Amino acid sequence: MELLQFSALLSLLNLLLYHFPFFKFVYENINMGGMARIMLAACLFILVVVVNFFAFYLLIFLLRRVGQFLIGVFFALNGAAVYFILTYKIIIDDTMMANLFNTQYSEASAFFNVWMVVSILFLGVLPAAYVMAQRVNYGSWKRFGCTMGISLGVILVSIGCNTKNFLWVGEHDTELGGLVLPWSYVVNTCRMENAKARESQQEILLPDAKITNDEPSVMVLVIGESARRDHFSLYGYERCTNPLLSAQERLHTYLANSCNTYTMACTKSILEYKEENDLYEILPNYLYRNGVDVYWRTTNWGQPPVHIAHFQEKEYVRANCTCGDAQYDEALVCGLRELIESSDSSKVLVVLHTSTSHGPKYTEKYPKRFEVFTPVSDKVESVSRSNDQLINAYDNTIVYTDYLLNRVIEQLKEIEGRHTAMLYLSDHGESLGENDLFMHGVPMSIAPKEQIEIPFLLWTSDDWRTLKPVKEATQHHVFHTVMDFLSVESPVFDPEMDLFEP
Ligand SMILES: [Zn+2]
Repeated sequence: MELLQFSALLSLLNLLLYHFPFFKFVYENINMGGMARIMLAACLFILVVVVNFFAFYLLIFLLRRVGQFLIGVFFALNGAAVYFILTYKIIIDDTMMANLFNTQYSEASAFFNVWMVVSILFLGVLPAAYVMAQRVNYGSWKRFGCTMGISLGVILVSIGCNTKNFLWVGEHDTELGGLVLPWSYVVNTCRMENAKARESQQEILLPDAKITNDEPSVMVLVIGESARRDHFSLYGYERCTNPLLSAQERLHTYLANSCNTYTMACTKSILEYKEENDLYEILPNYLYRNGVDVYWRTTNWGQPPVHIAHFQEKEYVRANCTCGDAQYDEALVCGLRELIESSDSSKVLVVLHTSTSHGPKYTEKYPKRFEVFTPVSDKVESVSRSNDQLINAYDNTIVYTDYLLNRVIEQLKEIEGRHTAMLYLSDHGESLGENDLFMHGVPMSIAPKEQIEIPFLLWTSDDWRTLKPVKEATQHHVFHTVMDFLSVESPVFDPEMDLFEP
């Protein structure tokens, strides 16, 4: 058989045998009507068929019999996967893969039954045997180039016609990704391995630092999530999204851009001493190792590994919140003053890693009483008509951010006998429908300004330190500014990147 025909047949088989759960999910959860519904369903159908065709063609052309063998193995595993998806209603994500690899034989054998054997035989083993046994005429490089080019074109066009609907895909990415076979278990096994590698990644230690005085000082570093600068009234937004912070004195605003458009890369940039591909000791680890009392509270994820005594994750932070709004980011700022006052160190750093403006479900990120702009919606069916309701919901997350930052400042003001400061910046921005783009993560080379222009605020309790008269900052200013405020002297300290006067 010609490779073109064979790959088309494989893609069709893959669709018919293994994608019933995927399209069942799409049918049950697609919530928009009319043309958008048809467009999205058609796009997903085309993507499943063409992307698999593309991948199968590529694998077999480049690896020949090995490629065929590999796809045969995928089909056999697909047979098992589809059985478990239908029988146990599971979604194959990275945690599911981690569970699978940690399962003992005794636990696994509990799943064993006749239907499983029959399903795996007919849906997996038989198709796999056919794939492996087929003789294929691989064709020329020229034909390979044409086929790859055309299929890539079809993929890009169908994505291009559906950018608006990708808000829906973003909302259901775990389920959709978990039901696309064989890529759910292939990609999620890689993700799991990647996460493991990241966890155990060794950072390159920086030269030792020393604290140069006993003057008690406290820095609260708040790392925001998906907050864009032009939706802060502090930066001239026509809506009043910063009613509380606008009334604060000693609050300085800086113009800043993020170093990237996704959380993992941006939090690394915020915490490292300069832009590096390698992982150098990050700010909290470095300060902790050199004698600063460091706390990290998070409702988010994606930061490089943190090695400090007080690392408080979402579950812990929420369980210990006594403020009443524990399911929101209020939990991060609840009891902040008590936390700081309980420290007997003269130098304290508290990092709060928030998730307040993370999409696409902005309406779930703030308590109802912060719903200042209405009507709100983050459902695709309303967004396909206009973005206004989505923007209302997003702006409410900024109003809530304003409240949270103000609570940090008010608590710091109550602390006696210590110089305090709060530094707030976002990891990256967010698209809200400009050029039909939503959320973030567009490659840096073509990223729109909405995804990289971030708010960067610095508040100080008193005149202990003077700020330089600069208007612009970068994410790398954080490392050096925090170090200086906590009087930490180090060979890597760069006075150029410090917002305080020496
Ligand atoms: Zn982020």
